[in-house]
Amino acid sequence: MRPIENSQPNQNRKQETKTKMTQTIDRSQIEALVRNVIRGTRDAAPAKVADSLSGFSPPGWVDGQPNLRVSISARHVHLTDEHVEMLFGAGSKLEPDKDLYQDGFYAAKQTVMVVGPRRRMLPNVRVLGPTRPFSQVELALTDSISLGIDAPVRHSGHIHDTPGCVLVGPAGTVKLDHGVIRAARHVHMNFADADHYGVKNSEKMQLVVKSKECGVIFEDVLVRADKDAKLEVHIDTDEGNACNLEAATEILLRKDSCGCKKK
Ligand SMILES: [Zn+2]
Repeated sequence: MRPIENSQPNQNRKQETKTKMTQTIDRSQIEALVRNVIRGTRDAAPAKVADSLSGFSPPGWVDGQPNLRVSISARHVHLTDEHVEMLFGAGSKLEPDKDLYQDGFYAAKQTVMVVGPRRRMLPNVRVLGPTRPFSQVELALTDSISLGIDAPVRHSGHIHDTPGCVLVGPAGTVKLDHGVIRAARHVHMNFADADHYGVKNSEKMQLVVKSKECGVIFEDVLVRADKDAKLEVHIDTDEGNACNLEAATEILLRKDSCGCKKK
């Protein structure tokens, strides 16, 4: 079915981008660390920052437009260099297996076992690279229930006063005193995307997922804007399942509608 096009394509720039699902849904690897739903983005007006004559285009943009992508981040672990060596052996480095959509980030070949209290555990939890100054375990609520760990919702890196766990690798174990979180939903974007949506770093947006009989509006989608990011929403597996993301018929990313929730 053809989408309904905006009849006045040169109106003011909109702060929400309507997108439609295309057929490019990756179903091939249920076990894949990150499942992506990719849509072509339609918007009412061309954005001024893309300049086809100069060849300049912000990261991730397609045909002079932001290209919204929503990805489900399955449970995963970030490690320090020191912990990589403790888990996988002296001199070990993370080995990139699959590039993630954001440039420079990858799923490593390595996995670890995450062990909670009373020896409940999750095997084969993927390590994401590159390494970081701190180790961190990101779970969905369902994962944390099966582990018996009451993981709080936190933004990546905000791991003070969070529960710990034990990581088990082929060469050793690491006891984390803290670092187990449920990653708060967020959207990566560059400054051209932020300008397009009329938002700034650390503001909140809404993600509307229209899906047959189980559509969801996600509030509190934190904007994480930097120079190089490509427009991509990250939600966890529970959130992706709640809205049946893979069967979504339309997805909108927009500023908080009334503007009254600003801090
Ligand atoms: Zn992210």
